[in-house]
Amino acid sequence: MTENQGKSWSAPWSATVLTLFPEMFPGPLGQSLAGKALKNGIWRLETVDIRDFARDKHRSVDDAPFGGGPGMVMRPDVLADAVDHVSGTPRGGGRVIYLSPRGRRLDQAMARELAEQDGVVLICGRFEGVDQRALDERGIEEVSVGDFVLSGGETAALVLLDAVIRLLPGVIGDGAALEEESFAQGLLEYPQYTRPQNWEGHAVPEVLTSGHHGNIRAWRKAQAEELTKARRPDLWERYLRSAKSRG
Ligand code: SAH
Repeated sequence: MTENQGKSWSAPWSATVLTLFPEMFPGPLGQSLAGKALKNGIWRLETVDIRDFARDKHRSVDDAPFGGGPGMVMRPDVLADAVDHVSGTPRGGGRVIYLSPRGRRLDQAMARELAEQDGVVLICGRFEGVDQRALDERGIEEVSVGDFVLSGGETAALVLLDAVIRLLPGVIGDGAALEEESFAQGLLEYPQYTRPQNWEGHAVPEVLTSGHHGNIRAWRKAQAEELTKARRPDLWERYLRSAKSRG
């Protein structure tokens, strides 16, 4: 028998979430597109309760910070045991990411990168954060969902997973939708319109009802460029640079 190279079945993309609140998952990802994809086995979810790795009878996972200061810090021994529990197994093959405001900012390129891998292991912090040694010793990456502070990593993990799951093959029926949306071409998306064609005295832009596909494409591109230039000078600069290097 020959090797089955073009295999038609592939293992589901695997999300493993280490958290003190496993009941927060799949939460919103159990609904709509992501929920359907979960039921259809396009992705799988496993939650690991960090508290199961506590070492004392009080099941404590945190302690006061050395050097003083407010709040509590997650213990390295407890967290590392939870990480080792999953990374010794096939599902732990992917990247291990700690959701953290200090991390590299999540963007569409990172979401795309993660969607191409077999899965990811996510660590949700609580309190003031986690002991630095656990991050250093286990080579854990830090990823932030934005320049603000959340009360825990769970909502950040949901954001990351949502961004990745919708990119998995078969989740969004019309793959073309992914090529047009914000960030796909390095631009924000053009404005969208639907029925009614006249609403509160405002008609939709004429070109969209012209049936002239070339003009529509050109109008949308110009709109996307205008919007990006006005709202996101940082993206616009990058877009210009990459357009230049493409020649
Ligand atoms: N003292 C920390 C914040 C702790 S917030 C600091 O100043 O950096 C508690 C937990 O919420 C963190 O451990 C992290 O897992 C999560 N979190 C908070 N803001 C986040 C963000 N912007 N992106 C990703 N995770 C975040």
